[in-house]
Amino acid sequence: MYNFSFQNPTRLIFGEGQMARLASEIPKDKKVLVIYGGGSIRKNGVYDQVSSALSEHEWGEFGGIEPNPGFHTAMKAVEKIKAEGFDFLLAVGGGSVADATKFIAASACFDGDPLHILSKGARIRAALPLGVVLTLPATGSESNPNGVMTNYDTHEKLAFYGRRLFPQFAILDPTATYSLPPRQVANGIIDAYVHTVEQYLTFPVGADLQDRFAEGILRTLADNGPAALSDPENYRVRANVMWSATMALNGLIGSGVPHDWSTHFIGHELTALHNMDHGQTLAVILPAMMAEKREQKREKLLQYASEVWKINDGDEEGRIDQAIEATRAFFESLGVSTRLSSYGIKQQHIPALIEALEKHNMIALGEHQDVTPEISAKVLHRCL
Ligand code: NAP
Ligand code: FE
Repeated sequence: MYNFSFQNPTRLIFGEGQMARLASEIPKDKKVLVIYGGGSIRKNGVYDQVSSALSEHEWGEFGGIEPNPGFHTAMKAVEKIKAEGFDFLLAVGGGSVADATKFIAASACFDGDPLHILSKGARIRAALPLGVVLTLPATGSESNPNGVMTNYDTHEKLAFYGRRLFPQFAILDPTATYSLPPRQVANGIIDAYVHTVEQYLTFPVGADLQDRFAEGILRTLADNGPAALSDPENYRVRANVMWSATMALNGLIGSGVPHDWSTHFIGHELTALHNMDHGQTLAVILPAMMAEKREQKREKLLQYASEVWKINDGDEEGRIDQAIEATRAFFESLGVSTRLSSYGIKQQHIPALIEALEKHNMIALGEHQDVTPEISAKVLHRCL
């Protein structure tokens, strides 16, 4: 196991009826800006729950954060904050709203052009305090310090990070996810699954407990995924999916182990250039990445086959093939295609994707930095 330091300061408040806790989690002297997306919270009752919990606070709202949140939309929220003096941000929505709220929190305190946080990796030294009411289990953004924003002027999707961006609290009420469209349920399960794989299916470093945590999350998602779609108001199922997604990317399973975010980073270019959903990009790339890296990841792939999919018979090559196929079949069982052709993306589109990776310095990905642009191109060819 590698050396590590682990601290996650986000208070997680889990369960039905917990929205009321907003009243006590946000200090009464704060002026709160509630930030949300395209309006799903107005239809499913979450907006009303938030508004009644904040009845004793002074608060305002900013809606219209888009999926794959845009830089310019975030800047409008920053203008409102500066003009009206908000000093606490409450994200109500999925990963896009949570990420945008983090970016807004940092930009409101940033000395200089906030675009540099994305384009130049400028350091985030200060941020407004924020909390999250989560409506879509997927990203883990509700209890991590990361985010991803899109600059629609240049078609770039860029990640940012700052220790000050951990939400102070996150409210996870599984019933707030009942209204999700099936496509978003599937995308979310795949995102959480791939976050886990990218911290697990790496060079083994003897981190037994992290491996067992990761295998537990993967099995929980595989066991509950289909029922999350077929039985949308099953509390038990939604609760297990929600907790898995949070635990997949809150730092715990990734402590002391190598990470391989190559599937995510290639996926960001597919979203930026072809508007694919984040979850769809991951479903396409992960099986191909596993196939491309089967030699380097042999030991972990065999462990994954055995521990997650109970594949123990046959020779090593056969077990690895079966594990990759089981992964693909799981994503397809959620209604998400694992082939680029289904999204209208063809061989002729690959050079532009590779150029974008190079432009963003994504030229040495993976836990061994050996996913070069040539390897990324091979992976994308396998995805066709
Ligand atoms: P999302 O983009 O936040 O939301 C997708 C759609 O689901 C939106 O149209 C949203 O509608 C709708 N929705 C959300 N909750 C709903 C509900 N309860 N009922 C009905 N509709 C609902 O999806 P996401 O997968 O959570 O976030 C994806 C973003 O997170 C991507 O940009 C991705 O790159 C990023 N990401 C971040 C991290 C991280 O660590 N920070 C990790 C992985 C990915 P409304 O707009 O109306 O709310
Ligand atoms: Fe993700």
